[in-house]
Amino acid sequence: MLDQRFVLENVELVQQNCVDRGVKADVARFAELETQRRALQQEVEDLNRQANEVSKSIGKAKDDAEREARKDEGRQLREAKDAKQAEVDRVGVEADRILRGLPNLTHGATPRGDEAASKELRKGDTKPAKFNFKPVDHLALAEQHDLVDFEGGSRVSGNGFYYLKNEAVLLEFALQRYAVDLLMREGFTPMMTPDMARGEIIQGIGFIPRGPETQIYSVENHDLNLVATAEITLGGLYAGQVVDEAELPIKLAGVSHCFRTEAGAAGRASRGLYRVHQFTKVEMFAFTTPAQSEDMLNLFLELECEIFNGLKIPFRVLDIASGDLGGPAFRKFDLEAWMPGRGANGEYGEVTSTSNCTDYQARRLDIRYRTPGEKGTNFVHTLNGTAVACGRAMIAILENYQQADGSILIPEVLRPYVGKERIGAAD
Ligand code: AMP
Repeated sequence: MLDQRFVLENVELVQQNCVDRGVKADVARFAELETQRRALQQEVEDLNRQANEVSKSIGKAKDDAEREARKDEGRQLREAKDAKQAEVDRVGVEADRILRGLPNLTHGATPRGDEAASKELRKGDTKPAKFNFKPVDHLALAEQHDLVDFEGGSRVSGNGFYYLKNEAVLLEFALQRYAVDLLMREGFTPMMTPDMARGEIIQGIGFIPRGPETQIYSVENHDLNLVATAEITLGGLYAGQVVDEAELPIKLAGVSHCFRTEAGAAGRASRGLYRVHQFTKVEMFAFTTPAQSEDMLNLFLELECEIFNGLKIPFRVLDIASGDLGGPAFRKFDLEAWMPGRGANGEYGEVTSTSNCTDYQARRLDIRYRTPGEKGTNFVHTLNGTAVACGRAMIAILENYQQADGSILIPEVLRPYVGKERIGAAD
């Protein structure tokens, strides 16, 4: 959420920011409602004061008739005050709805435009392999080596669910350990987070807990929702808290399952493990001071590159355009890995995403820090980044490491965790 005062003082800038980000919002209407709300609030206070004065004067009435008249006047003033208060509340609800719907501000260097305007910043260390055979996609490889049961997943839980089997299970564990070990070396605290969270936390992070367009599965008759990412549970952990500045930055590495309805994603290339309803992810999350957040975003990006360079998977880094940032991000970088089996001749597919959300989530979740010797508190900045989303990383591994004989090599950095160097027999 943006700072209300900032919005009121910068209506045009905030409106332009909404245009840049493809968000429909009427910022002028918000300003109008706020002015109205403040005037109405003043009237409530005036009526309240008058009612109190009348109450006090009842004891001084000279006879019963005057006492009754003053009581009557007091009642009327209180009724008028309650009616005004109802108006304040109504106007406040509308103003709040607009304010909460405003996206974060946007970094000056972020390319302006829709998805197509996102800019490639650089490529990873590994070049796409030149195969001397026609590479197949991860579905064919998974079937050949009995790695994923999509059909069973679909029967038991519905389309978009699956069972991992055999070496895919080992790869899933290996990817998690590889990422967590690397992040622990970088000073992150490893966490295994709840897979469910309350609606208030889901909303605070910037998701919509219920409704037709939500990405979130909610549990009937409980204020509980399946998390779409550990960003929700890691960010939510500090909701309502004040930390000392000396504790910042706080760097967490959260492992969770992620559940997504994928509402509105129909038709987007989503075969196999690419766009599913459940996957496992190791997520980086940081709470920082405002001065630390830009460096932290760069660190998250460097770590994502280190993870995929370590796996020797070709990738490119994108600076995500304003129209594709979502609500909370101030700046966002994605890694897209080369997937040789995707599309007709291979395509890049998103594998990670890292965002600096500045104080947008902290303001909604009320997460602050205290600086010694200073009065009051300030909002922290929050950042999130994918270390490894296991399903997509697995696609990239299977497709890039396939061999002419049909076997699949295991990336060297994962071999100690998997305990073997190849899936299937070499010729
Ligand atoms: P996000 O939290 O939406 O930025 O997603 C983080 C990462 O999770 C993405 O970069 C993908 O690698 C992965 N991911 C997102 N949605 C899905 C999905 N429906 N199925 C599989 N992986 C996903």
